[in-house]
Amino acid sequence: MERRIGEIAITDHVDFDPRYPAYDFVPFERRERVVREAAERWGDHLAVRFGCELTYERQYERDIKDHLTRHRYDFTIGSVHMGPFSPYGTDRVATFVAGGPLDDVVRPYFDEVEAAARSGLFDTLGHLDFIKRYVHPHIEPSDFAARPDLYEPILRALVESGMGLEINTSGLRQSPGQTYPAAPIVALFRAMGGRHVNSGSDAHLADSFAFGLEDGYRVAGGAGFSDSCFDVGGHASPFHCQIGCAPNRRAARSL
Ligand SMILES: [Zn+2]
Repeated sequence: MERRIGEIAITDHVDFDPRYPAYDFVPFERRERVVREAAERWGDHLAVRFGCELTYERQYERDIKDHLTRHRYDFTIGSVHMGPFSPYGTDRVATFVAGGPLDDVVRPYFDEVEAAARSGLFDTLGHLDFIKRYVHPHIEPSDFAARPDLYEPILRALVESGMGLEINTSGLRQSPGQTYPAAPIVALFRAMGGRHVNSGSDAHLADSFAFGLEDGYRVAGGAGFSDSCFDVGGHASPFHCQIGCAPNRRAARSL
C-alpha cells in the first residue's frame, strides 16, 4: 500500500532487566547492520533511521547512560514498561485498582515516567500513559482525561529536560481507542512550553506498520505543533520536517 512515508526510524527494544524480553536479545552491531542495509536499499524512496526504544527504570539509569555512551543511535525513545511484578499485570490489576483513587493507581507508573522525562537521556518519551490499556475497563480513558493535573509534573519535566513527547498511535487499535497520550494532553504539553513531538505507530507486526500515523499528526497539528522531528537531543535536527509535507517520522517499530 502506498503510504507516502518519507522517513522512518526502526526502534527495536533494548532492556536492562534480565527478566525483560529484550535483555541481551539482538546485539547492537546486528541491529545496526540490518537497519543500515535497509537504509541503503530503500534510500531512493525512504529515509530509514537507526533507533531504539530503551526501557527506563530509575534503578537502571546508570546502565542506560553507559549503553548510550557506547552506542550511537539516530533516534532514541525512553519508555516505561510493565515489569514482571507490575501491579498492572492482568492477574492482579483488578485488585490493585479496586476502590483506589486515580492518583494512587497511576503513581507507580507515572513516578517512573516522570523520572524518565527528567533524565533527559532520550530524544523522546514513549507512550506516556499506556497504562490506560492495562487498567481498562476498570478505569476509563475519560477518568484520565478528567485529571490533567496528574500529567503536569511529567510534562514539566519534559519541557525542562528538552525531551520530546511521542504521540503513540497504538492506543487507537487497543481498548482505549485514543493515542498515548490523548490530544488534550498533547495540547497541554504545548501550552506548557513543549517544543518537540513525534508520532509512532509502535508496530510490532507488519499489519500495524504506520497504523494511525495520520491521526497522530492530526493530534500534533491540533495542539499547535507545526513541526515534527526525530532527533531532538539538544542539537539541530537533521530530520526536521514540517507536519503535512508528507506523512513521515517514526512509522515503524519492530521486534
Ligand atoms: Zn514501549
